Amino acid sequence: MRTEEQIKADIVEVGRRLWERGYVASNDGNISVRLDDSRLITTPKSVSKGFMTPDMMVVTDSNSKKLSGDRDPSSELKMHLQVYRDRPDARAVVHAHPPTATGFAVAGIPLDRAVLAEVVTTLGSIPIAEYATPSTDELPIACSKYLKAHDGLLLANHGALAIGPDLFTAYHRMETIEHFAKISLVTRQLGRENLLSRQEVVRLQGLRGMYGIASPAPVCTDDTIVMDADGQVACQVVQAPDAPAGARLVADLHQRSRGGAVMGGADARVLHDGDGEIRLTYRELTALIEDAVRNLK
Ligand SMILES: [Zn+2]
Repeated sequence: MRTEEQIKADIVEVGRRLWERGYVASNDGNISVRLDDSRLITTPKSVSKGFMTPDMMVVTDSNSKKLSGDRDPSSELKMHLQVYRDRPDARAVVHAHPPTATGFAVAGIPLDRAVLAEVVTTLGSIPIAEYATPSTDELPIACSKYLKAHDGLLLANHGALAIGPDLFTAYHRMETIEHFAKISLVTRQLGRENLLSRQEVVRLQGLRGMYGIASPAPVCTDDTIVMDADGQVACQVVQAPDAPAGARLVADLHQRSRGGAVMGGADARVLHDGDGEIRLTYRELTALIEDAVRNLK
């Protein structure tokens, strides 16, 4: 069990890592650790997370009331308190604006495709909580829909949130979210994203027990999504296609014809391939023709 002083020093260290990695700019981001059922330590308002000292930390109760500290608590304290209400197992919360993951949050693209085995096994998926004005009561409500089933969330047009049974686990989950976002961005720029099959995802989920990975909810697919009685999502939705003949990887042939950003990949291929051979599905060809007709108007 870490003492209050040790926890304050840990928060300083995690803040420094967030800032050094460029996950926050200016005074962005906030961190909290639950001390017991009624008290938590939070970062103060309006301070760069890269330059904090342990004496800046604020202790509050579970109703946002300050118990000790010279500064005001984080402006996003309500979001942290919502996490602790929805997740009795959560002991720490890290919120930041890592640029690639936040880019996905701005584009409205959740990190929910079965791409990396390790992410499927650990976080399952990273959905996007609907847009809400930062620091208001709207934000905890928007997050709450996903909190029971997920350890990582994107916040639409804002940033990302990671939850853990201890501070460093929550911080490492934030690293995983940003790393996953970077890899997803690269695969989409390359114009192709092979997905793990649904059968492989089920197999990976089976490994959770073997490796002692505590997950708040099971994996489900978009056609088997489960909501609980409170309207909260009760499983981790992962996009994974059925595999023909037991294949573990499935080429996502439709991806390039789905929407603007992805279509850009197909366009780029057409432009850069010169005289080389191009293979297009009917769907891609139709999308290209529609695009060309639109440009003529
Ligand atoms: Zn924020």
